[in-house]
Amino acid sequence: MATQDVAPGAGVSFETGEQARLILDSLDEFVEREVEPLESDLGETWSNPRLRHETDGRLVPEVVEAIEQIRKKSADAGFYAMNLPEAAGGDDVSNVTWYRAKKHVAGKGVGLAQYVLAGPEGPKPLLLQAEGEQVEKYLKPTVRGEKSTAFAQTEPGAGSDSPSMDARAEKEGDEWVINGTKQWITNAPYADFVQVFARTTPAEEAGRYGGITCFLVEREEYEVGALNNAVGFEGMQAEVHLDDVRVGENRVLGEPDAAFYNAMDFLSLGRLELGAEAIGHAEHLLDAAIDYAQDREAFGRPIGKFQGISHKIARGRAKTYAADAAGLRCAWKLDAGETAIEDTSILKWFATNAFWEVADDTVQVHGGNGLAEDNPYMDGLHAARVLRIVEGADEIQLNTIAKQLGVT
Ligand SMILES: Cc1cc2nc3c(=O)[nH]c(=O)nc-3n(C[C@H](O)[C@H](O)[C@H](O)COP(=O)(O)OP(=O)(O)OC[C@H]3O[C@@H](n4cnc5c(N)ncnc54)[C@H](O)[C@@H]3O)c2cc1C
Repeated sequence: MATQDVAPGAGVSFETGEQARLILDSLDEFVEREVEPLESDLGETWSNPRLRHETDGRLVPEVVEAIEQIRKKSADAGFYAMNLPEAAGGDDVSNVTWYRAKKHVAGKGVGLAQYVLAGPEGPKPLLLQAEGEQVEKYLKPTVRGEKSTAFAQTEPGAGSDSPSMDARAEKEGDEWVINGTKQWITNAPYADFVQVFARTTPAEEAGRYGGITCFLVEREEYEVGALNNAVGFEGMQAEVHLDDVRVGENRVLGEPDAAFYNAMDFLSLGRLELGAEAIGHAEHLLDAAIDYAQDREAFGRPIGKFQGISHKIARGRAKTYAADAAGLRCAWKLDAGETAIEDTSILKWFATNAFWEVADDTVQVHGGNGLAEDNPYMDGLHAARVLRIVEGADEIQLNTIAKQLGVT
């Protein structure tokens, strides 16, 4: 499969290279062949959010199974973890290609296709720190889509300020004893194991960002608490309760006390990923708004002929165009080995806000139909709202940009 479609340091090209084009075309075929039939087999169970959930709020087993199937088939086809190194079972594609693939899949809307490329339930670069038996037990099965995971950092009292977390792990003999409560943990109800962040050395000794360790905690060792239902994402996030969970040294992921620094190394990749998703979704909505503006008539003409509507679409196009250029630039910089901290904060803030504005305008263009329950435009609006908060909210990205500029 493709490696680079923009050679770092060899000039910038905004062309989609031939190998990346092949990946995007194969993704289209994959979604048509494997994902769309699953969606239509599920029928109303998928399309009607009220039928998608059990009475306790979790996804019904048929939907969980469909997601698992997509994951495994996508991994078999070489898509799922394409950005990870070959040694870990990935395809080592460039960040530019990965960015394009993420955006392309997001361009299909917020349906089951979103599970084709690894998201929060899949292998993230953090998991590449797996060593020894961890590689066969956790990393490789997750890359193959056979196991799913979750990243558990946020707590009831610590979100943006996650180093102030209360979760603790203390050494007793050969074991670590973990206690704490996490919340808003994506995929926690369905994961095979969770990557739990807990403080192992007090901040006074290790520094604010030091003293935090990541543990691999298996499904039967943690308790899933109340679901944290965000509108449009119901059944996906939950509390994780860790009550005297005892694990051995072999469950420490990476260096003890260094988990927060390690996670920070991958922040830029997370922001690139969310930027790609936001732009893909926004472009998808924009297409729907263009179609509707051309078809829907009022006062004897298509509503797109009214400047009040055409300017919404033109503004959306300008924003997604600029966001995409920023996304490609960030991906290119990351491929060139730069940390791209300021760049990816700009991207994450700009792209998710562009998505939010496009989603809001798309609802407006659709008038009353845009407000109908369970329509794809309201789904977009909900997704956009979430993307402006997760992985560093708007304000945190602006703080980072200001800090990089030396203002604060
Ligand atoms: C759908 C969804 C999925 C999620 N998935 C996960 C997951 O898988 N794993 C996980 O660990 N977490 C997850 N989260 C949690 C998410 O990362 C946090 O919600 C996010 O980091 C914000 O933290 P908070 O909600 O505690 O808000 P707070 O940190 O309390 O912030 C509240 C408001 O204050 C602002 N604020 C805070 N500090 C500052 C500052 N210094 N300057 C200016 N403004 C500030 C924030 O920007 C925000 O607007 C998820 C959340 C949602 C909604």
